[in-house]
Amino acid sequence: MARTFFIGGNFKLNGSKQSITEIVDRLNDASIPQNVEVVICPPAPYLGLAASLVKKSQVTVGAQNAYLKGSGAYTGENSVEQIKDVGAKWVILGHSERRTYFHEDDKLVAEKTKYALDQGVGVILCIGETLEEKKAGVTLKVVDTQLTAVLDQVKDWSNVVVAYEPVWAIGTGLAATPEDAQEIHAHIRKFLAEKLGAGVADKIRILYGGSANGKNAVTFKDKPDVDGFLVGGASLKPEFVDIINSRN
Ligand code: PGA
Repeated sequence: MARTFFIGGNFKLNGSKQSITEIVDRLNDASIPQNVEVVICPPAPYLGLAASLVKKSQVTVGAQNAYLKGSGAYTGENSVEQIKDVGAKWVILGHSERRTYFHEDDKLVAEKTKYALDQGVGVILCIGETLEEKKAGVTLKVVDTQLTAVLDQVKDWSNVVVAYEPVWAIGTGLAATPEDAQEIHAHIRKFLAEKLGAGVADKIRILYGGSANGKNAVTFKDKPDVDGFLVGGASLKPEFVDIINSRN
């Protein structure tokens, strides 16, 4: 099954009007294959700016988080309706930094996923084990549990992209090997196939995230279940274009 190669750029809490304009300009000027989907995710204050600057049809904008209520007395939050209103087509949910620093648990991630999908916003759903969990040999159990919480609430996965991001690989420069990533991705697809049916699971993009960069992206090229990358640090740099082009 040919799944469209998908590259997410998670800018995290980085950027300014000037630097985000430069990043989008670089993408506008770059050669980007037609068969690649790129989603850049700047901090919420810059979503509208980024959306207004993007000129390439392959590139859209996503948020890094959104709340699960449309409006109300929730000081400091951004709603799915609002990020959509300013041009976001996607939202990253369940990122390990949200789980760790902002105490988002599996249930909240699942509720937010359902809410975003119900509003027509695609979800880049992040899952992955910590170093302790990896050492304890429970990686598959961890990803199964994280997926199960969402499977309990979400029946239609056509607008979900799964990002497997081992926490120990995020921002460390120590990416998973392509072989290890393939093994976990294949497991994730098999697990999703058991719950959703093989036809549905076959269509779901599974991204690798964690120290993906312009050099190592190409080494994942022949891994059949690695359908793209969720890129943090390198998405701010010119090498992001190399990652986008790593399949062609
Ligand atoms: P990294 O981050 O590429 O900087 O490791 C990935 C992510 O957190 O999504």
